[in-house]
Amino acid sequence: MEQEKIFARLLRIVNRYSHERETGDFVTYLDPDVLRQKLHFDDNAGNQDWEEIFSWVEQYLAHAVKTSHPGFVNRMWAGANLPSIIGEIITAITNTSACTYETAPVSTLMEKYMLRAMLDLTGFQNGSGQMTTGSSNANMIAMLAARNRTAPAIKQRGLFQRPELFAFVNKDAHYSMDRAANILGLGTDHLIKIPLDDHGRMHVPTLEKSMQEVTAAGGVPFFVGATAGTTVRGSFDLLEPLLALRRRYGFWLHVDGAWGGAVIFSEQLRSQFLPDLEQADSFTLDFHKMLGTALMCNVLLFNNEPSLFRDVCSAGDESYIFREGPNHEIRDLGTLSLQCGRRVDSLKWFLDWRFYGQAGLAQRVEHYLELCRYAEEWVQQSDALEMVVPRESFNICFRFRAAQGTPPGPLNCAVRDRMHRSGVTLVGTGYVNGEMTLRLLITNLNVGKTELDSFFRTVIATGYEILAENCSVPPAQGR
Ligand SMILES: *Cc1c(COP(=O)(O)O)cnc(C)c1O
Repeated sequence: MEQEKIFARLLRIVNRYSHERETGDFVTYLDPDVLRQKLHFDDNAGNQDWEEIFSWVEQYLAHAVKTSHPGFVNRMWAGANLPSIIGEIITAITNTSACTYETAPVSTLMEKYMLRAMLDLTGFQNGSGQMTTGSSNANMIAMLAARNRTAPAIKQRGLFQRPELFAFVNKDAHYSMDRAANILGLGTDHLIKIPLDDHGRMHVPTLEKSMQEVTAAGGVPFFVGATAGTTVRGSFDLLEPLLALRRRYGFWLHVDGAWGGAVIFSEQLRSQFLPDLEQADSFTLDFHKMLGTALMCNVLLFNNEPSLFRDVCSAGDESYIFREGPNHEIRDLGTLSLQCGRRVDSLKWFLDWRFYGQAGLAQRVEHYLELCRYAEEWVQQSDALEMVVPRESFNICFRFRAAQGTPPGPLNCAVRDRMHRSGVTLVGTGYVNGEMTLRLLITNLNVGKTELDSFFRTVIATGYEILAENCSVPPAQGR
């Protein structure tokens, strides 16, 4: 088959799928063993047969999760924005690495433009930044920078014969912090998880006490990772008291805004949720979550540290690959990166930015928050549902109300599982104070009030169905 025909056929499939992905079941679910058998992985490879290739494409799509589907309310991301999908396709067909200007001229300039725009928006002065592979790695790079700023000799000598370093995070912080502590040689015992206040934020007096203990024992508190939007509850650590502590202890204050950092696009939401952000030392934000850019798309920003990124991360500066601009200006973004090959993430970001602009993204985030209010009210007004914990921001932690004597955890797991397998809807789960919760996240432009109505009705109907099968007494009929 000639290329032209192949592309035409591909485009037909893309077109068809783009309609299908918002309707029908959100998945045709099969258990892993059944799906593996169906897929015939062991048939001979290497036939160079385009029919076979397209048949694999169809099989892939037949069991793909339709993340654009309004029933997909499970994760912090959902179907991607169309401009960024165009960016992804062009990125794939041009297949280059964004590590040097030579191989990626336009993308390098787009990334620099983007970093400038995001530093300005965040209010970081004299800062620097990079696009990374996601907030997990951004958190690690921020911790790496903090570690090496505290003790610059570590880059050459390692962690040997040094006072012990301690990092502090919210007890509900993302697990990438544990991984960072492991990779950076601190050990997870040196990542201290601070208990929460009633709003799911770090309890600052406990944090302070912990720092005093560490310091008294000869340790060094070098890093505090605040979370802007915790994964389960959506809590925002307050920055102001952390900034006050920083004045005393001199640690690096990083803000993990992977999820909730999207509020910076709206002036009103930023002042509500992230005041004082401009005084933090670093900030990360995932464009592929609330803002809808195709996975993966992340930015990590440093405040007031124009050269630290380079001091900390650089390797290979004098090597075969990188070139400097005039006045030691960084021409090749690969110098700052932990990778060598870098996927082009700037094009999809750029196309989204041109299309929606800051105002469009602000509107989207405000719209989601409005829907979250609606969802919370829905739960509060229903006799069959209850909030597990009041809403802090964008996360709705709720569950089907179990009858007296029925443990709510297993019942709600069963509700979720049945809705998943039937292909109707997929909702997240988590634990709040040891209690199992369903976690509804709205990051999908195809979800509106009507879809939320039918989502909650499905949860309730499924709950009653399971209760009836188990012959328990159902709670009072509700909305
Ligand atoms: C999603 C998330 C992460 C991880 O981000 P990735 O881009 O998936 O690596 C880290 N922190 C928080 C708070 C998150 O919500």
